[in-house]
Order: sequence, then structure tokens, then C-alpha cells
Amino acid sequence: MKIVCIGRNYAAHARELGNEIPDAPILFLKPPSSLIGNGGTVILPAVTQDVQHEVELVVRLGTGGTNIAEADALAHVDGYAVGLDLTARDLQTEAKKKGLPWTLAKGLDTFAPLGDFAPASAVPDPQALRIRCVVRGEVRQDGFTGDMLHPVAALIAYVSSVMTLEPGDLIFTGTPEGVSPLHDGDDVFAEIDGLPPLRVTARRA
Ligand code: MG
Repeated sequence: MKIVCIGRNYAAHARELGNEIPDAPILFLKPPSSLIGNGGTVILPAVTQDVQHEVELVVRLGTGGTNIAEADALAHVDGYAVGLDLTARDLQTEAKKKGLPWTLAKGLDTFAPLGDFAPASAVPDPQALRIRCVVRGEVRQDGFTGDMLHPVAALIAYVSSVMTLEPGDLIFTGTPEGVSPLHDGDDVFAEIDGLPPLRVTARRA
């Protein structure tokens, strides 16, 4: 199983980090060891001082494929969930400056909280969903999946054109604007219309 993540898939988020808006989707991977479930604890490790939340719609492949056609792509999805693409922003900024990979910034233990899945049939249109992240009761991110630069079907087509997708693979589809740092003890609540919500607590290691 692999966890494919998409960077800069909402224009306003790309701008808030001072990034250019890419033509093609930006891909990176997280290791399965970064996954935790609803109710879990996010560990803020000593290696970073700036862990930020990125709430994202997560797609799970039911059937895989290579070169999946965009018109067919949503039929390959068997479930949708709320996910958090946690990011050590200080390490990512350093990596970007040096032209190094994002693996450390994105792949730390507990950096991929994932809620329970709703069946694909419960989500008739993945581009018509409100997506929110609330930290300590304060709304930090409040976006709309229709603002994705590359919608879910296009992402599946693109990813499967460069790496074969397999049943059970996950795609984190990018985050809207409003990312901010997490601190010890923070209660993080993430929700997307029609999906089981996700709640985790952050703890300093
Ligand atoms: Mg992200």
C-alpha cells in the first residue's frame, strides 16, 4: 500500500506559502508508518519546532490500474475519508531551499491521521464538499473541494500515468488555505461533508 500526496492543489494555499501554482500536480509519498486513526495522538517530535495541519480529502482505490482514463477514474474509488497531511514546515522550508526531498518533513510517525472511510457511493460529487479544520475550537481552515486545481478524477488519471495504482492505495488530495502550527495539547478536529469526522490530540514528544 502506498500513500500518494498532492502538493499545492488549491491556489490560495499555494499563495499563502509563497509558492508558484504548478501546471502538473506535485507528488510526494508518505510511509504507511505515518498513519494513525481517529482518536489518536499526534507526536510533535523534537526534530521540528513547527508542525502544521493540512486538512485533506483522502481517496482510497478499490481497483487499481495504470493509465486510468479520467472519465473512468471515480469508478476506481471505493471510499473517501478525512485526512491530515501533517507537515514539519521548518524542515520542509529547509529542504526546499536546499533542493532536498520532503520525506523527513512529511513522513514522520503519526503525520498522517486518517478518519474512517465512507463508501464511495456516499459521495456523489467529491468536488462539492466543504472541508474544515478546527484547532482548540477555533476554525483555521474552511474550504471547498471544488477549488482544487486538479480534481480527484484528474489526480487519479495523472498518478496512474506515472505509477501503477493498486487496491488500497491512498491519495491525499491537497489542502485549502489556513494552515497553522500545532502545539502541545491541541485538540484538532477535521471534517468534510458526508464523511466521518476526524479528531486527534497533539503531544510534544
Ligand atoms: Mg498537503
